[in-house]
Parts: sequence; C-alpha cells; structure tokens
Amino acid sequence: MDQYRPTWVSISTTSFAHNVREMKRRAGRRVAVMAVLKADAYGHGAGRLAPVALKAGAEAIGVSSLEEGITLRQSGVLAPILILGGLYPFKNFSEAVKARLTPTIASFEAARHLFKISKMLDRPIAFHLKVDTGMGRIGVSPEGAVSLLDWISRRPSLRLAGLYSHLATADDNGSFARLQIRRFKKVARAANDLEIKPILLHLANSAGALRFKGSHFNLIRPGLALYGLSPFANRNFPSFSPVLNWQTRVIFLKKVPVRTPISYGQTFVTKRPSVIATLPVGYADGVPRLASNRGHVLVRDRACPVVGRVTMDHTMIDVTGKNVRIGDKATLIGKQHRSFISAWDWARWAETNAYEICCQISKRVPRTFE
Ligand SMILES: *Cc1c(COP(=O)(O)O)cnc(C)c1O
Repeated sequence: MDQYRPTWVSISTTSFAHNVREMKRRAGRRVAVMAVLKADAYGHGAGRLAPVALKAGAEAIGVSSLEEGITLRQSGVLAPILILGGLYPFKNFSEAVKARLTPTIASFEAARHLFKISKMLDRPIAFHLKVDTGMGRIGVSPEGAVSLLDWISRRPSLRLAGLYSHLATADDNGSFARLQIRRFKKVARAANDLEIKPILLHLANSAGALRFKGSHFNLIRPGLALYGLSPFANRNFPSFSPVLNWQTRVIFLKKVPVRTPISYGQTFVTKRPSVIATLPVGYADGVPRLASNRGHVLVRDRACPVVGRVTMDHTMIDVTGKNVRIGDKATLIGKQHRSFISAWDWARWAETNAYEICCQISKRVPRTFE
C-alpha cells in the first residue's frame, strides 16, 4: 500500500554489511560468523538483511523459530540456517528438515523424536546440540549432555553438526562467562572422547565475541553488534556503524500559555508560554510509554523533550524557541548534524535494553532499505 503517514525507518544495508565485515575481521580466518537474524533481524527486516549478511561474509544464519526459518528459505536464502529456539511440538522437526533448516536439540526427549523422524524419513538428520552451561533457558545440563552424546554416538542417522551453548553474562559478569566457557570446553572434550566430534562448536553472542577470544571456538553468533549497537549498553560503539534510522515529521504546532496541561493525565503542565509540536507516532509504533516526560527527539538539530504521556498514535514535544515549522523532520533514532540518538538512549529512558527498543518498532512503521 502507498505510504501516507510521514513516519519511516530506514535501514542502511551498507552499515550492516560493514558491521558483518568488522565482526569477521575480529573473528579471524578460522572462525565462522553466524548472523543472528531472529525476530525479523531485531526489527530491521530479516528478508532484506540475510543476503547482505551472506554477501559480506557470514557463513550461516541464526533464527528463533521454524516460521522465521521458512520465511527466509522462501525468500531464497540457501545458506545454512540454525533454529536457535527449542522446537515444540516435536513433530515440527519434520517440517524443519523439509525446509532444510537445522534444528536445535535441547533435551533427551527431543533427541528421541528426531531419531524417530530420521527412521520414518529413512535419512540422516543434521542438528546442533544445545548445552545449558549457565544461561538457565533451554539445553541439556553438562552432565546430561555427556550421556546424550553417548546415546547419539550409537545412532548414526543422528548427525551432530554442532555443539553449542549461550552466555548469560558476557556483557557484565566476566567471571561467570569464563566459568561457562570452562563448562562448555569440558562437554566438547567429552564429545571428542566419544569420537562424535561436532563440526561446529559455538558459544559467543556479540558481547562474548567482542570480549572473550576464548569463547570463539570455530563459530560466533553475533546479533546486536551487526545492527551497530553495542552489547555493553553504551551509546558509542566505535568501529561499528548504526544501521537503523527512525524519522517522522511535525504534523501539528501550537503556541500555548503557561500552565497548559499536555496529554493524558496532565502529567506535564507548561511552566512558561510554550510551543508544543505533535508527532504522528506513539506506543503503537514502538515509542515506549515509559519515555513520557523523559525522552527527547531531534528537530532542527536540537534536542526537544517529550512532554506529557506518549499516547497510542501521537507524541508531543516541547519546541519552544526552536523555530520549528510544520513538516520539519523529527529524528527518533539516528543523527541530525552533530546530534545523535541511539536505541540505547530510548532504552535508558524506558528502563530496558536496545534489543527491546528495536524489536518494539511495530509493523505499522514501514522499513526502507538503502
Ligand atoms: C539472540 C542470540 C544470539 C545473539 O545475541 P546478541 O547479544 O544479539 O549478539 C546468539 N545466540 C543465541 C542462542 C541467541 O538467542
């Protein structure tokens, strides 16, 4: 459909490709990069970014669900795709195999089902085994992994293509991350002893990849860093480039006297005669309601504070003395001359992280790619 409302996200495929190459450079020749494009590439658009990631040198793609994997296959992606999430119900394994998606096995029960399916289809099935070394989400325990590996080693139709785990604290608690690395190495050694050496060993998310060489093994799984966002809650992320730009325009302007209440609940009341602008975006677009009276946007290169509550479809900003006109561009995420607003700024205002800010930019906001 044609776009009428002046609100859009533009995605720089050039910056994204640069970030993939930067990650490849840091990983070195012997370590492969799996570009994590789950949740529609963290809200950026997986269908468009998958080919960019592969062209820039990523060897594989990580997604969360069968749906996400099938969508990428339908868009023509031929590279290996690992489903990082736990597949359930287990009969979904056959759908994954049909679409040439690599499933994750995270329990004995799942392994038994995969074996049944391999017998039914009368063909070997490749998968990655997930070990829980301390994340506490999905995965077999390190001890359970050793007995499961033994069980797998006696079933040749189950092809262990990868063994992996996930770091819980790579962005802050380094000593726990190092403990996870040690636990993972122990399981990898056990697999080696059983002579079912997996081809791929992987543990690192963006933070792990950037901070712990010892977490690289032979593949890393960066997500956030590829979008130009630091996993360390930092606005500045030198040598990576921001990818997502969110713009809108001023659609309404009013001059109001002192003591004028603005928006629901009158949580903001002008302290001076003011000029208030209305933007055609609200929490239904992904502007966090928690940023009410906290956040700001850029108009005419200046920071203009959000005043009053963010509403479903509109957000008001104070533009007093800034010479703002109807139709002026307002930047929610991105740069205007020397000023810059990062997803991490919104994360701070909304008491969350940059991941959630990006994922929350709703389908109502069209993405353009350049
Ligand atoms: C999301 C995810 C990643 C990527 O994490 P980032 O912090 O975005 O780099 C890697 N591995 C798994 C299993 C994940 O779920």
